[in-house]
Amino acid sequence: MNFKDKIRIIPDFPKPGIRFKDITTLLRDGQALRAAVQEIANRFRDEKIDLVVGPEARGFVIGTPVAYELGCGFVPLRKPGKLPAETAKMEYGLEYGKDALEIHLDAIQPGQRILLVDDLLATGGTTRAAVELVEKLGGQVVGLAFLIELTYLEGRKQLGDKEVFSLVQY
Ligand code: 5GP
Repeated sequence: MNFKDKIRIIPDFPKPGIRFKDITTLLRDGQALRAAVQEIANRFRDEKIDLVVGPEARGFVIGTPVAYELGCGFVPLRKPGKLPAETAKMEYGLEYGKDALEIHLDAIQPGQRILLVDDLLATGGTTRAAVELVEKLGGQVVGLAFLIELTYLEGRKQLGDKEVFSLVQY
């Protein structure tokens, strides 16, 4: 499957100069969605993943079916103030702007093997914050998976020697 053909580029969104990778065109294509989810799941099938963790909001859309495919649970990372129980919080810089993510304190048990999933790796700021939240709770980040990697932003450098898998690179 050529996933690049399924992704639409929107120039100057959300700000002038940014070429936004729109994945809604991939998501609405049933064969492409299934192939993408299965390709990510297959890559980590032998890694004994306990939980998939994904950041709001596109990380939910890709992460949850990957978890279903692996037969494990899904843990959401949410924007501040959305999670109802006790949380840990991490701030981070974005390709455009600043934000924070929260996780329920009891969402991960120490030693659990975690696969982090999001739609896109840009500067790596979001993913790094996600890794730090998981590790704060004692989870072990076994791998990181994305539909898209913007290689020119070198997000991988933020993630140490962790296993990074992406379906499409720009
Ligand atoms: P980073 O923190 O790696 O710089 O940015 C990655 C985050 O920003 C991801 O959560 C992703 O959803 C969002 N993001 C940044 N640029 C794009 C883009 O061009 N397309 C999409 N779909 N998401 C983006």
